[in-house]
Amino acid sequence: MATYNLWTVGCQMNKADSDRLASGLEKLGLLSCDVPEDSDVVVLNTCVVRQSAEDTATGLLGRLKPIKMAHPNRTIAVMGCMVGPTQDKLRRRFPHVDVWARPQQFEPVIQAAAARIGLDAEGCLDSLVPKQPGVTAFVPIVHGCDKFCTFCIIPYRRGRETSRSTDEIVRETALLAQRGVREVTLLGQNVDSYGQDLSPRRDLADLLYEVHAIEGLERIRFLTSHPNDMSSRIIRAVADLPKVCESVNLPVQAGDDAILADMKRGYTRRQYLDKVKEIRETIPAVTMTTDLIVGFPGESREQFRRSLELLQEVRFDKVHAAAYSERPGTLASRRLPDTLDRTEKKGRLAEVSRMQEQIQNGMNKRLAGQKFEVLVDNRTRGRLQGRTRGDKIVYLQGEDSMIGQTVTVRITDATPWSLRGEVQEAGKTAAPPDQETNRQAAHNWDQHKLPAASTP
Ligand code: SF4
Repeated sequence: MATYNLWTVGCQMNKADSDRLASGLEKLGLLSCDVPEDSDVVVLNTCVVRQSAEDTATGLLGRLKPIKMAHPNRTIAVMGCMVGPTQDKLRRRFPHVDVWARPQQFEPVIQAAAARIGLDAEGCLDSLVPKQPGVTAFVPIVHGCDKFCTFCIIPYRRGRETSRSTDEIVRETALLAQRGVREVTLLGQNVDSYGQDLSPRRDLADLLYEVHAIEGLERIRFLTSHPNDMSSRIIRAVADLPKVCESVNLPVQAGDDAILADMKRGYTRRQYLDKVKEIRETIPAVTMTTDLIVGFPGESREQFRRSLELLQEVRFDKVHAAAYSERPGTLASRRLPDTLDRTEKKGRLAEVSRMQEQIQNGMNKRLAGQKFEVLVDNRTRGRLQGRTRGDKIVYLQGEDSMIGQTVTVRITDATPWSLRGEVQEAGKTAAPPDQETNRQAAHNWDQHKLPAASTP
């Protein structure tokens, strides 16, 4: 039987794309194989947000070259953000690659795989919803980004914001729920801008209410937010809808106004902090995470200290920190010289990590003895793993039959990165909200609908 290997690096959007592509390849009858060197079709789903991710992809492509030369009938495809609007340079550099496909361009890859095994791809392209998804699934709702932050390559590679229709998203999510998915994460590079390009115009709050009505679905999350587009309507919807988890990722990227302006983030430190305040006042149980870049061009020691102070002030549940990595073609790479050396950037990253470890340790230790609802989603290194509604990882002892269930767990121990707990109450498999909750949500929505959707 023909086999495929799908290698994925990068953000959740890439993982969602890979799930869809795998579903199309499996419809063709290909079997998944863990070893690229032994597979008939190899697909690299790439990321170029950081130089290191790009280097890993090009390293793997180099490894595949002798294999392609020894077995010319094997198919090698590259998909994702490494593939820009023009591919001439890449084609010259990697002549052994058969297919170049931009993000979400599944068709050329599936067509090439079909040709490889002598089949017609017709019928394998229309619905790419995984047949046997896990307990959780990603659902892309808006592709691309219009923000053009100066450090970011995404708008150049994934294009302008394009929202999927609400009907399509709801149909896909309902199908996933029927197939056993309990939690979906709605994805967009800038998820809060969902629907601004649709006619009639919609917003993420509208979509959350629609997805909330899907039977069998227990939890809804969304990623990644932009502070300027996370409107009061969206915040209110998170607070009102029982299935929407009270967990918000709100990238700040820097704590200093001059650096934020150089990044073209479109907000000041004060405006960001006001948004955090609004979120915490509206959703009291919310957990918050953020993204931060250290060593942005020209970032002085004092400006970096402002970022540390902001982390100290907000006390995030998690911080995804990264050292600035110059990406050719971005505004920053054209206008702002990368002034800080690698050692300084690494030192700043280590400072963030030390501070955050202390903050998270304090926050998590305080959870000991408390009870949480945990959706168990898999087994890893002999333990069951699940997440609280606030997106904290919890490890448990128990049987595999608990996977897919929501259980009540008492926290027994905590580290800065995860919790350990014991099951207090066996779970439920699918937990649609009760009638009263639905009625209340519908009532809140009617109230909430009164103001028109916000303008960007
Ligand atoms: S909002 Fe900024 S950082 Fe995020 S994807 Fe768009 S351009 Fe990149």
